[in-house]
Formats: sequence, structure tokens, C-alpha cells
Amino acid sequence: MSQLSPSRDLRELPKTQLHLHLTGAMRPATLIELAGRYGVTVPPPLPGAAGTWAAFQDRYDASRAVLRTAADVGRVIAEAASDDAADGCGWLEIQVDPTSYLPVFGSLEAALEAVLAGAAAAPIPVGVLVASSWQRSPAHAVTLARLAARYAGAGVVGFGLSNDERGASVADFTPAFKLAREAGLLAAPHSGFYTPATHVQECVELLGAARIGHGTSAATDPAVVELLASRGVALEICPTSYPPFGVHELSTIPVKTFLAAGVPVAVSTDDPLLFGVGLAGQYEILRDFLGLTDEDLAAVAVGGVQASAAPAEVRTRLVAEVAAWLATGSQ
Ligand SMILES: [Zn+2]
Repeated sequence: MSQLSPSRDLRELPKTQLHLHLTGAMRPATLIELAGRYGVTVPPPLPGAAGTWAAFQDRYDASRAVLRTAADVGRVIAEAASDDAADGCGWLEIQVDPTSYLPVFGSLEAALEAVLAGAAAAPIPVGVLVASSWQRSPAHAVTLARLAARYAGAGVVGFGLSNDERGASVADFTPAFKLAREAGLLAAPHSGFYTPATHVQECVELLGAARIGHGTSAATDPAVVELLASRGVALEICPTSYPPFGVHELSTIPVKTFLAAGVPVAVSTDDPLLFGVGLAGQYEILRDFLGLTDEDLAAVAVGGVQASAAPAEVRTRLVAEVAAWLATGSQ
């Protein structure tokens, strides 16, 4: 524990953000402003309405309803990228289910192009993941995988499945992920939040997941931990997403289990609008609640860089900057 330096400003640690949903990336002040402009009533913030997925979804849906134009979408991405950059982020991946914006944009293409335009104009490099939902049909996932594949190389870097992963058959989504992977896209489904380690295992073995959104239940099964480590599958761990749903307390998130086993951990914020903590704050939680040292935090930051879809020059630069950060602290 002697390596702990609690006063060190973790905004200075170079890092990535790999798990951020467009709607949940909105600044609270922007939500209030846009809700007023469009006459949308937004349910009270978490934690007042915490504890159930339904309460979360209600607020999320209301927040989504304030994004009406490409300018609104571009503003949210620019502000999110600016906030993450201030927290030391050098590469941001934002995920969106364009289906959610179909009613306002008129087509999936128009919705995705609004996101891509916002990403291209952001103050730091931004990649886009197209995400279908575990709660929508496998056929719809194929539709979105085809859409994502068409924009591979034009800003789309990955394909995912978000939302509550319970109740759906992993195997049914194999065709969508095959399409995405054949287009060179990174496969990054949510898993292991509500579902057991076997669900994480299926996402790796059947969907070819290179990363798992959350995936913390894998820690309960050493064979799945070993699978993740041997294949270099990274877990996008978002510390503040777990306590409101009773998934973990901040002090029981199994980050050390994964790091000790060689599983890459990429710390992200998920939905800072709803959970209230930014990217550097998530790293502070790992230090303050889990006792991670500077070396551990640097390993997490590097894990995020290596698990990202960032171009080689961005990855090389960020890894060097993390090493410099660590060297500076140990002088
Ligand atoms: Zn998520």
C-alpha cells in the first residue's frame, strides 16, 4: 500500500473511454436545457429512483427523447468528448443504437450519420460502436450489423448489444456478430451484469467478443476468467453502474481478480448522466475502494488502450504517455 498516492490527480493519467452510451453521455445541464426546449418531462435522477432496471430505463428513455436534431447529437458528443479529455482521455468510443433515434431522423442511416458527424467534429478522436439491444430481435441485430459494416472505415469501429441481457439466447445473435467481425468490426456485447459467467463465456465463444461490456460475473468462475485471459478479452468495467442495481458494492467489484489473472480491464463510465461520475472519478473509485496502486491504475489504463479500436499511432502514443505518468510518480 506504500505505493498509494491518494493526492495524485488521476485526470493526469492518460486513458481511454470504451463504454459510453450516447444518451447517457449527456451533461445534466444539457438535459435540462433540451428538455425545456422540447417540453419533455424527465423523471428524477438516480439514486432517488434507483434499484430497478425499469426506473433506470424510464429516465433513460426520457433523456433520449430530448435529442431531436443532428445538432443536439453533435453537441452531446462534443461535450462528452470535452469532459473526457479533461479527465485525461485520449481516445473515446461512443455507442449508439440508431433504432432509438429512427423516429426523429427518419432512417437508421440518418441517425448513424448524425452520430458520425458529431464524432468527426469532437475535440479528441472518437470511434463509434453501433449497438443493437438484447431486447430486440436477432433479425434486427443483423440489420444493424449490416448498417455498421457499411460504415466500417468511416467512423464505425465496433458492434455491440446493449440493454438488459437477460432472457435472450446468445446463440441467436451469432449471425449478426459474424457479419460485423467479417467487416473488421470489434465485437463488444454487454454481458455478465445480470447474467452468470456462462453468459460471458458464450459471448466469447459464440459471438467472438473481443470485449465484454461489464462481464464482472465472470469472476465467479475461474475457467471463464482463464478463457478471458487466454484470449485477451477485455472487460469494460464501469464502477458506478453496479451499486444502484445491487450487482456489486464499490468495494466488491472484482477488478483485482481480473488483473491478477491477466484479464485486461478497461474502466469506463457507461452513463455518467445517470450515475454522476466521470472517467477520472471511476479510476479514483478503483484507488479509494479497491486499493489499486499507481502501477495497477497504469495497467488498467494500458488495458483500455490495447483493447480499444484506436489507430496504431494513438495507441502507441497513449501507452508511452501512461508509462511516463507512472515514471513521474515514482521519482
Ligand atoms: Zn452499457
